[in-house]
Amino acid sequence: MSATGQRLHNKTALITGAGSGIGKCSALTFALQGATVIVNDLDAGKGKETAEEIRAAGGVASFIQADVTDPASVEAMARQALERHGRIDVLFNNAGISGVGALHEVEPDVWDRVMRVNIRGVYLPSKYVLPSMMERKSGVIINMSSCVAEIGLAKRASYSATKGAVLALTKSMQVDYAPYGIRVNALLPGTILTPFVENYLKQSYEDPEAAVESIKKRQLSGELGRPEDVAQAALFLASDESKFMMGSPLYIDGGVVFGKNA
Ligand code: NAD
Repeated sequence: MSATGQRLHNKTALITGAGSGIGKCSALTFALQGATVIVNDLDAGKGKETAEEIRAAGGVASFIQADVTDPASVEAMARQALERHGRIDVLFNNAGISGVGALHEVEPDVWDRVMRVNIRGVYLPSKYVLPSMMERKSGVIINMSSCVAEIGLAKRASYSATKGAVLALTKSMQVDYAPYGIRVNALLPGTILTPFVENYLKQSYEDPEAAVESIKKRQLSGELGRPEDVAQAALFLASDESKFMMGSPLYIDGGVVFGKNA
């Protein structure tokens, strides 16, 4: 459990895909720093569990189920969140899915699904939350990219295409919304041990243990990252402490992008 404090005092944060992994950890971290957290997930069981854990820890949270790829469902989520809380200070576009395979191995339906969740899933929540931020001339958007936006990794064709798109979109959004006092930044994690990675390892490797060892070697840290590592970076981007960061990629990757293991 993260430290408590007031770094997000008086702020309301909407986090997509907060029923698991990095989103869940960020929801708990934000709440313990004074934020009112709106937990979104497609999976109602997991999302409600996150909100309950926050409340049990003394924080303020509610759950809204929505599929980030569905315009009607996302518009309803934004409307409900604004009706409940009056404003959304921080939108963390975190929901995402993995896509495994070299390009020729990826079936068109898998390609489309990865594009829909990972890119449309950033576009739609932003589209429906931005007008309220623009009206208030204030807001923070955090988009979940990945270190694969910057480096080539084997068998990640669809996934890396989406995360590169999210990074480019972040920069473009920042230019459009800077005049409205809105900051838009991206997170670029390395490999973080979450259910997403556990499933991916099981699905893609005959020996998941050996795969973990090779991933550890790829990162200068010699270890996989933890959801807390990314949640702390998200907390920084969400808070006023990062007010001079605009359109930036923030790497939390154990050195995988800029380091080189001999
Ligand atoms: P996770 O699978 O543990 O959690 C993702 C959550 O998103 C799940 O609760 C899932 O139900 C939800 N979700 C999926 N599709 C959704 C949809 N259409 N609408 C709403 N919610 C939906 O994954 P994680 O590892 O915590 O990853 C979170 C984000 O971080 C993803 O965007 C992922 O690409 C990115 N990321 C993860 C890693 C890593 O190594 N774990 C590295 C870089 C980037």
